[in-house]
Amino acid sequence: MRDLSRDRRWIAINTATVKAWSLEQAIDGCARAGITAIAPWRDILQACGVARAAQLLRTHDMTVTALCRGGMFPAADEAGRRAALDDNRRAVDEAAGIGAACLVLVVGGLPAGSKDIAGARRQVRDGLAALLPHARKAGVKLAIEPLHPMYAADRACVNTLAQANDLCDELGDGLGVAVDVYHVWWDPALAREIARAGSRIISYHVCDWLVPTTDLLLDRGMMGDGVIDLRGIRAMVEAAGFAGHCDVEIFSARDWWKRDPNEVLGVCLERYRTVV
Ligand code: ZN
Repeated sequence: MRDLSRDRRWIAINTATVKAWSLEQAIDGCARAGITAIAPWRDILQACGVARAAQLLRTHDMTVTALCRGGMFPAADEAGRRAALDDNRRAVDEAAGIGAACLVLVVGGLPAGSKDIAGARRQVRDGLAALLPHARKAGVKLAIEPLHPMYAADRACVNTLAQANDLCDELGDGLGVAVDVYHVWWDPALAREIARAGSRIISYHVCDWLVPTTDLLLDRGMMGDGVIDLRGIRAMVEAAGFAGHCDVEIFSARDWWKRDPNEVLGVCLERYRTVV
């Protein structure tokens, strides 16, 4: 297992962690903190403009670990599914435009009014299959991020690493997985499925699970403040062959989003050195 305590090369900041900042500010802020990798969200990328963002990232010699996010494949009708696919193709192009190592996919949940989760999962499979040729041509890997089952209805009906691995097995090249500790830490099959994922792990996200958690979406904890065995999970992904970045992704409306982003980056770095 890598010793990260004196090597800041492997920390990346997901821009959701420093939500108050524009992409320009986040790139500047990370550079000032000595952080050399970043994972932007599409909204702030679009606000900045892809060409300008690419230029800024190059100027600061910043690695782009991922673009967040594509997905949301299921829809109530064909027009909706086509619109989702078109938007995903644009996301792939944006990822290529900034040299992102992958496009993270939150695959989507139940279409409005539906109770057919098996059908939603088929729509996800079909959406991925339809998107893959464009992604392969653009040279952008797609990272399926399984989400905790509490999001199955509204965000992602792929809820375990086993499901994501099954999709990779079925659909082949160009597809991988994003392992986010927040979503998978509880899974009794985690060790087996991380080993099975192997080189298909292309994105690794860290934060922590607070007890109690007061909001299903916006109450993630800083690494070390919760119950996730971060070192244990990193040991698993590294044993599986992953040697990439630890992307810090913290949605925290009641705490970290209220602080000065510069302070947040300082704490992220300290925890990265000591508990990640
Ligand atoms: Zn994530």
